Amino acid sequence: MSDLTFQKIRKTFGPTIALQGLDLRVEPGELISLLGPSGCGKTTALRIAAGFETADSGSVSVTGNDISRLPAHKRNMGMVFQSYSLFPNLSVADNVEYGLRTRKVGRTEGRRRVADILELVQLSDQAPKYPHQLSGGQQQRVALARALAIEPSVLLLDEPLSALDAKVRSSLRDEIRRIQTDLKITTLFVTHDQEEALAISDRIAVMSQGAMEQLGTPAEIYGNPANAFVARFIGSMNEIPATVVDAGAVRVLDTVVATSRSHDFTSGTEVNLLVRPEDARIVADDDNGGGLAGTIVGQTFQGSSTDVSVRLDVLDVHVRVHIIGSTEGILHNADRVTVGLDGARAVLEPAA
Ligand code: ATP
Repeated sequence: MSDLTFQKIRKTFGPTIALQGLDLRVEPGELISLLGPSGCGKTTALRIAAGFETADSGSVSVTGNDISRLPAHKRNMGMVFQSYSLFPNLSVADNVEYGLRTRKVGRTEGRRRVADILELVQLSDQAPKYPHQLSGGQQQRVALARALAIEPSVLLLDEPLSALDAKVRSSLRDEIRRIQTDLKITTLFVTHDQEEALAISDRIAVMSQGAMEQLGTPAEIYGNPANAFVARFIGSMNEIPATVVDAGAVRVLDTVVATSRSHDFTSGTEVNLLVRPEDARIVADDDNGGGLAGTIVGQTFQGSSTDVSVRLDVLDVHVRVHIIGSTEGILHNADRVTVGLDGARAVLEPAA
């Protein structure tokens, strides 16, 4: 198994800084997603690993060998792109075998590998077909099979699921993860879709403007975001004006919310408290037991849960409360309620 290491990679395109000193090591057999908004530099990082782009400075190495100066075809990387990029005039089997021919793998060995890989991606029965006779999801599995057939040291996947519809996207996502785990292949996966990154990754590198904001497991990134950018980019957040009380708490109106993040601020600082909808709860009818009084202004039923929107009486803020199950017959629009906040996972940023 190989690792893939970026060291201090910097890349500019004219005045645009695409990467500003990227340091990242994908461990052997690990799948890391590069996740971030459009233009944050994730594709550039992948193209530099592949050898399609040259960094201004820094190096890329695989298992300790600096490959920065190797041409793309000598890097032994398997690549899958958003567009399937199959050869339309070649059958499925010939598409998958293509990379083996250029690597001078013998005919018998090549045919055996193609059969094994097509079985792995569950396309054995499609081998004689041509790309136009396949669905988008099947074409992308052929592209994956072609990338894997060469037994690459590293697999590079650039938004491979973006062109597919939602159902195919999630089933192929799970299949890519199953195959990647089975083969223990070191993988870099580029996506702007946070749900996809959370589902498929061992670790996620969240990027913004050519820099890494946070590197961590999906649970770390979601549950303990390093800063407000990561908190907003992954999942959703309520944003509530608050005042820092001390190193362990902030105050929202008269309600004190315990949060360890307040140690970064001096007491009295005005901040935004970023709290996930699942860390907000409806406490009871408006009573005097603390919490934020408000009125239910909307409810969105999502099958397994309901998002309840509460307009607070005093602050000009709607707080979304995530409730497991249905609220039908229990909560109604215009009900007066009190919202409680759990600040354990909350993130703070200075008020604008
Ligand atoms: P997307 O999700 O939209 O593909 P990305 O995060 O992959 O975005 P990159 O494609 O890596 O972002 O681009 C990073 C920055 O570098 C962007 O500002 C982009 O416009 C710029 N850039 C990328 N390639 C080139 C190029 N060949 N010429 C000029 N600018 C480029």
